[in-house]
Amino acid sequence: MKRESKPMQIGRVTIGGGNPIAIQSMLNTDTRDVAASLRQLQALEQAGCEIARLAVPDMEAAQALADIKKGTSLPLVADIHFDYRLALAACQSGVDKIRINPGNIGEKWKIREVANACAARGIPIRIGVNGGSVDQDLRREYGVTPYTLYRSAVRNIEALQECGFENICVSLKASNVFSTIEAYRLLAAECDYPLHLGVTEAGSRHMGTIKSAAAFGALLCDGIGDTIRVSLTDDPVLEVEAARDILKALDLHQSGVTIVSCPTCGRTCIDLIPIAQAVEARLKHVRARITVAVMGCVVNGPGEAREADLGICGGKGEGLIIRKGEILRKVPEDRLVDELLREVEALTGERV
Ligand code: SF4
Repeated sequence: MKRESKPMQIGRVTIGGGNPIAIQSMLNTDTRDVAASLRQLQALEQAGCEIARLAVPDMEAAQALADIKKGTSLPLVADIHFDYRLALAACQSGVDKIRINPGNIGEKWKIREVANACAARGIPIRIGVNGGSVDQDLRREYGVTPYTLYRSAVRNIEALQECGFENICVSLKASNVFSTIEAYRLLAAECDYPLHLGVTEAGSRHMGTIKSAAAFGALLCDGIGDTIRVSLTDDPVLEVEAARDILKALDLHQSGVTIVSCPTCGRTCIDLIPIAQAVEARLKHVRARITVAVMGCVVNGPGEAREADLGICGGKGEGLIIRKGEILRKVPEDRLVDELLREVEALTGERV
C-alpha cells in the first residue's frame, strides 16, 4: 500500500499524491558557471533526471540561477545552508523549490522571511535533515540515531508551520542504511508531507548504489517515498541511471527496458556475458516500458522469453529470437544482438 502523501508541484513535476516517484540528482558543477551547469543539466535530463538541485554557496551563484533557469525546463532546486538571503535571492531567480535545513538558517524571523518569499511564489521547501546536521541538543543527549533525525525533522516542520507554511517535503538522510530506513518510517507514520528518499554520503558508484537500493527497497516496498536521489561520489548522470534501475527493479518505473538475463552456467554454449552487456548498453535510452530476456540455453530460456516482450535464447553458436513467446527465427551467434535490436525497434518505434 502506497503511503498517502500530499501532492506537491515542483515546476512541471508533481510529487506525492499518488504520482510516479520522481528521480532527482544534484549537479557538481560550479553554479556560477552557467554554461557548464546547463551542459550537465542536459546530460542529466537525457539520462532521465526529473528534478535537479544546485548548490548555492554565495550570492553570485544565487543570481546565476536566473540564467540557468532560462536555459532549461528541468525543475530546479536551490540548495541553501546558513544564509537566508541566498534563499531569498534564489527565489527571485525563479527556482522551483528551495532546500534548507531551518535549524541552520538561524533566528525565527529569517525562517519566516524565507517561508514568506516561497509562499508568495508558490515554491515548496524541502527540509533536508542529515546525520551531520541534527539539532545539537538532540545530538548531545542521544547521538545521531533514527530518533534524533526524526525529532530534528519534526522541529523543522513545526518551525515552518509556525510561519503558516505547509508546502513542505522532507528528507532524513543518514549514511547508515538501517538508521535511514527507521527515521523515514518514524516520520512517515506521523505526517502526510511528501518524502524525498536518500542515503547521504552513500559512497562510490558500486557501494553507494547498493546502499541506496537497500534503503529505498525497504522503504518503497512499505509504500514510503515520493522522490528519490541516489548520492554517489561519481558523475551525477550515474546517480540518475542508478535511481532509474532501482525503480525498475521494484517495478515502479514509468519507462525503460527491463532486462531479464540468466547468470550463465556450464550449459551455456554461446558467449552470453558480452551479449547481455551489449543489449543492456544499447537499450539504456529506450523509453518504452518493455521486458527483454537474454537467456543462455533452452532449460529456462524459452520459459523466460515467453514472459518477456522480446528475447533471445542461446544454442550452440546460434540462438533463437523470440517475440512474446513465439519463435521468430534462428540466427548465428554474431547476429543475435543486431537481430534482437531490430525487433526492439519494430516493437517500440524507437531507434536503438
Ligand atoms: S538458462 Fe541455461 S545457460 Fe542460463 S543459467 Fe539457466 S541453465 Fe544455465
